[in-house]
Amino acid sequence: MHPELKAHPEYFQKEIVQLADNVYQAFGFAASNVYMIVGDDGVIIVDTTETTTAAENILAEFRKITDLPVKTIILTHSHRDHVSGASVFAEGGTPQVLASDRSSEDPLIVQTKHPRAAKAMQARTKRQFGIGLSYPDEIIGIGVGPGNRPLKGMGAGILPPTRRITGEGEKITLHGVDLELAMAPGETPDHMVVWYPEKKVLFSGDNFYRSFPNLYAIRGTEYRDFDTWADTMDQLMAFDPEVLAPGHTKAVIGGDQIKELLTDYRDAIRHVVTETRAGMDAGRTIDQLAHSVKLPPDMAAKPHLREYYGRVDFAVRAYFVGTMGWFDGNPTSLGALAPDDEAQRFIDLAGGADAVFQAVHKARADADHQWALQLIDRLIYAGHDVAKAKSLKADVLRDHAEDQINCPTRHYYLQCAKELSTPTG
Ligand SMILES: [Zn+2]
Repeated sequence: MHPELKAHPEYFQKEIVQLADNVYQAFGFAASNVYMIVGDDGVIIVDTTETTTAAENILAEFRKITDLPVKTIILTHSHRDHVSGASVFAEGGTPQVLASDRSSEDPLIVQTKHPRAAKAMQARTKRQFGIGLSYPDEIIGIGVGPGNRPLKGMGAGILPPTRRITGEGEKITLHGVDLELAMAPGETPDHMVVWYPEKKVLFSGDNFYRSFPNLYAIRGTEYRDFDTWADTMDQLMAFDPEVLAPGHTKAVIGGDQIKELLTDYRDAIRHVVTETRAGMDAGRTIDQLAHSVKLPPDMAAKPHLREYYGRVDFAVRAYFVGTMGWFDGNPTSLGALAPDDEAQRFIDLAGGADAVFQAVHKARADADHQWALQLIDRLIYAGHDVAKAKSLKADVLRDHAEDQINCPTRHYYLQCAKELSTPTG
């Protein structure tokens, strides 16, 4: 396992953190955070986690602090890990549920007019988040949340919004608490942040967390507009918060510290955009840019920009495809050979399947995992001893996973290794 990930179980220990006299964070109970604002005659909950089980655990802790009923639930965005415990917090009552009126890009959650490849997305989601991997040997954390979180009741407690907040947002008084709800598109187009001016607390959803931002999710996602996300960092800073309460990872305390982190986030996104765009203009392909565009070393070393969750090369690819489409600009790519055809020609050139299997064994011995995978795929595509090739692929994926700092990548490798090892894999 990557040495930096070994610190995550300690970091993501369960904790109720008091952020102001009437503001509490439930941290480490689930993939995402839940916040409670205690008003005069009722409680406001901001985000509700991914499972009803985690929500029950959190509510039990909140009930040690106050008996006031939950009267309002605010959802910062519609991703499953923020909306799925709402029915638990309602406790059989009928709190109002506030959310943005902008639609999410996520077809798992929002009914799209035409069908999407939801089955593929479900399989990929399971792999990205390591659902089914064992803690702590296989999954130690999800990059921005704990690995040993409850999975029972996933997606089970969603309540539909009772009111959708439109356009420029609104100022609202809830149970004696003055709040401002503001549209802040970033990780999703439907992001709505909550500003509590009296206490200078900003609930920022998933527009910031302690990792390089997930500008592309390997579970599959539509293009997340990079420039808009970077612009939103300036919008968040303009509130001048003293407490930044993010959807994942610990709250950030102190105006200067918050400004520094949000500036870094903005500049990291802008750097990827600028470098990728310049490379595209210079005629470089998506694969070339995915390998050449990097964060400057001082930026890449910052703890809040480590690639625990998002990855720079994934972002480069997403920007290329999101703004230019799939064609990389190289005329060769316009009529690429079918994978099985290319694989057989490659194997013939290499001297046959046995020679390629030998090259795989050498690559494994050299810990040259990616090359081993690319060789194995050709054996599988061309149909040479597929069972043996798949078994080798599972072994290489397990080895490769141990080097990864990026949790979605690690989980994807380990979960696919499991799938390859099962008879139906
Ligand atoms: Zn989230």
